Amino acid sequence: MRPVAPGVGRSIPAEAGNSGWKRTRDFRYATRVATVNKLLDKINISGTVRTDEPMSGHTTFEVGGPADLYAVPQTVADIIELLAVAEEAGLSWFVLGGGANVLVSDRGIRGLVIDMRAFSQFRREDDELVLGTGLPISDAAERAAELGLAGLEFLYSMPGSVGGAVWMNARCYGYSIDEVLESVLYLDENRRPRRYRARREDFAYKRSPFQNRRVVMYESRFRMRPADPAELRERMSEYYRDRESKGHFSAPSAGSVFKNNRDYGAPTGKLLDGLGLRGFQVGQAKVSDLHANIVINTGGATAAEIRAVIEHMDRQARAQLGIQLEREVLYAGEW
Ligand SMILES: Cc1cc2nc3c(=O)[nH]c(=O)nc-3n(C[C@H](O)[C@H](O)[C@H](O)COP(=O)(O)OP(=O)(O)OC[C@H]3O[C@@H](n4cnc5c(N)ncnc54)[C@H](O)[C@@H]3O)c2cc1C
Repeated sequence: MRPVAPGVGRSIPAEAGNSGWKRTRDFRYATRVATVNKLLDKINISGTVRTDEPMSGHTTFEVGGPADLYAVPQTVADIIELLAVAEEAGLSWFVLGGGANVLVSDRGIRGLVIDMRAFSQFRREDDELVLGTGLPISDAAERAAELGLAGLEFLYSMPGSVGGAVWMNARCYGYSIDEVLESVLYLDENRRPRRYRARREDFAYKRSPFQNRRVVMYESRFRMRPADPAELRERMSEYYRDRESKGHFSAPSAGSVFKNNRDYGAPTGKLLDGLGLRGFQVGQAKVSDLHANIVINTGGATAAEIRAVIEHMDRQARAQLGIQLEREVLYAGEW
């Protein structure tokens, strides 16, 4: 039997008012609920599936409206089943890691969200680590250090999953994840399992080959080096303290809003700081007082407010410095 969590079968509100716009909106909503309910009956996976799941509970900005369908697959067969049902119904789908680099709209996500959290295996094979892509990357770094394995420690205390870090080619403290990535198991565009052998030339600053494809990664392998656990712990504590000093843990955010590729001769935070953007606020969304490239949710912000702050920063950089910053935070959902 398909385990279906509460929230399923939400009733469609009776039409109120007589504006054409309202009728169209209700009609679209009714059609969507009917489609989603029909799909729920078709999906047969071992993991959970829910309807109208608020994405604010799954993103580090703590904002985002409901996803029509939200699934937590437990097996690769589950993912294949979900992709097949979505494709047959012409439904779009989105893979969610830790939600640490996405701004989901207040209206939410039309279609299916595939949350990879259950793919959290951690296995050592000699000096290599085999990790599920849903495992928090910081946990992976911590467990590797306990085993005396170096390679991922620079990612300690960075939010997000192993899969999200590979997809983004996460980078901090002078290192990128592609430096230790050996291979990735994923489902290709035809839902076939494949192995990708990592080549450095396929990656660049915050770029990975997965950004150009519609695939689901479920396992990755990393080349590690033997190291002293105490030394690794010391380095990880330094990284943690540095993040703490930049306010990473004091308010919901998605880290740096714009890429820090130094194309313009200085760190992006410094450039934005020079524009006096610290503290700039729209509603409850605000440029952090501690770092001008971070936007925080001060409590109860909407996605629209966060986006308005980001767009203001972007416009100011263009108008005052004549530069086009590249946004790192991804917009998701129906805007
Ligand atoms: C406080 C804070 C500090 C941060 N500091 C840094 C930093 O120092 N360096 C840095 O690089 N980033 C930083 N970030 C951003 C974020 O942590 C990284 O981008 C992280 O790698 C995102 O991972 P995620 O699992 O949350 O991805 P998500 O935000 O869930 O997804 C990001 C993208 O990856 C795709 N994706 C995720 N998993 C899979 C999968 N299994 N298969 C296919 N596609 C997938 C998603 O579809 C989406 O397109 C920070 C964020 C916060 C909140």
